Amino acid sequence: MSSKPHPTPLTIGIAGAGIGGLAAAIALRRAGHDVIVFEQARQFARVGADINLTPNAVRALDGLGVGEAARVTAARPSHRISRSYDSGEETSRLEMADTAEQKYGAPQLTIHRADLLAALTEAVPAQCIQLGRRVQTIAQDAQGVTVHFEDGDEARVDALLGADGIHSAVRAAMFGEENPRFTGIVAYRAVVPAASVAGVPNLGAFTKWWGPNPQSQIVTFPLNRGKDVFIFATTAQDSWQLESWTAPGDVEELRAHYAHYHPEARALLDACDTVLKTALYERDPMPAWTQGRLALLGDAAHPMLPFMAQGAGMAIEDAVVLARHLEGASAGSAGSALARYATARMERAARVQLGSRGNNWLREGGNADWVYGYDAWTAPLQ
Ligand SMILES: Cc1cc2nc3c(=O)[nH]c(=O)nc-3n(C[C@H](O)[C@H](O)[C@H](O)COP(=O)(O)OP(=O)(O)OC[C@H]3O[C@@H](n4cnc5c(N)ncnc54)[C@H](O)[C@@H]3O)c2cc1C
Repeated sequence: MSSKPHPTPLTIGIAGAGIGGLAAAIALRRAGHDVIVFEQARQFARVGADINLTPNAVRALDGLGVGEAARVTAARPSHRISRSYDSGEETSRLEMADTAEQKYGAPQLTIHRADLLAALTEAVPAQCIQLGRRVQTIAQDAQGVTVHFEDGDEARVDALLGADGIHSAVRAAMFGEENPRFTGIVAYRAVVPAASVAGVPNLGAFTKWWGPNPQSQIVTFPLNRGKDVFIFATTAQDSWQLESWTAPGDVEELRAHYAHYHPEARALLDACDTVLKTALYERDPMPAWTQGRLALLGDAAHPMLPFMAQGAGMAIEDAVVLARHLEGASAGSAGSALARYATARMERAARVQLGSRGNNWLREGGNADWVYGYDAWTAPLQ
């Protein structure tokens, strides 16, 4: 993608300075457009923990010029391993690291979400990001889009992207209010020092312990350059519907859910002092992502279960493909360029969304190439 000046640049508003919104801001600026990111949060806080970036996501980030900054704190898992929860038997093993780099042009990286956001934010001039700007309603006309904020203020842009996550206000303005579906699954997240679980093998790998049903699993991978181990455990539980990146869970409850797992998996849970707990929500693939000068990307367009670890990757891919479609677009052609972006992305996103729901991918081997081998920079444009 060129970063030449655009003859008739658009002013593009982006709702949400999350992973997808910031990636879109970088990509669109490189395509020569002006961007303003409207983020509801008053400041960037160190919330969340893990983000899994498989080779498809890392290659997209590398093209944005952000890969090097991400590598400073990220870990680089050596393998992707599947194990049975009870016997501990390994049912599949993929080489990642150098092998993935040779095969797909980029490795897998695992990184704290705040570190990835910091790397993305660094690449966007500060004046392009407005904090404390919660998008509430949107009015679109033939010339552009008026964005109304919660504080009563408003802004005018040529096009608006909804990168505002699973509860997207832009999505609601386009297609009506509709809550995401509670899946009946809860997730526990914990980080433990690698030194505290040194007896557990393969701490440098991304390991998925497959449970007795598709809802039950434990995933572990290195974080903070391997200094820490991240633990992500899910189980069916209808009684907890709170969706939160900060709500504490109970470590004893966590251990009880996985009491029948292999001792090496349980050793990781035994090392947890604290744990976060959240309910998991999702939506069905949507029939449309755009409406005139409005378009969705990332979780706003396709919130998915975490079982293929593709939430962030899909948002970054969307951002790159969207900007490639808007390269050279003018005010008159913005709507059709956005529609073509959606056509280019919807089938892949739906496949990953539904695959994540099924939670069977790579359990016993299988094809990783269609996910990891996708190149957002060269994928065909519509
Ligand atoms: C605080 C937070 C912590 C997270 N932590 C993790 C984690 O540890 N592990 C993990 O796998 N995933 C985490 N996620 C989710 C993950 O980032 C996404 O699933 C994925 O990366 C897709 O990114 P996205 O940019 O589409 O959405 P998100 O990353 O969810 O970003 C959406 C952004 O839009 C903003 N926003 C929402 N509504 C409005 C509005 N009306 N107006 C303006 N701005 C708005 C939000 O504040 C947020 O910054 C977290 C998300 C958030 C918001």
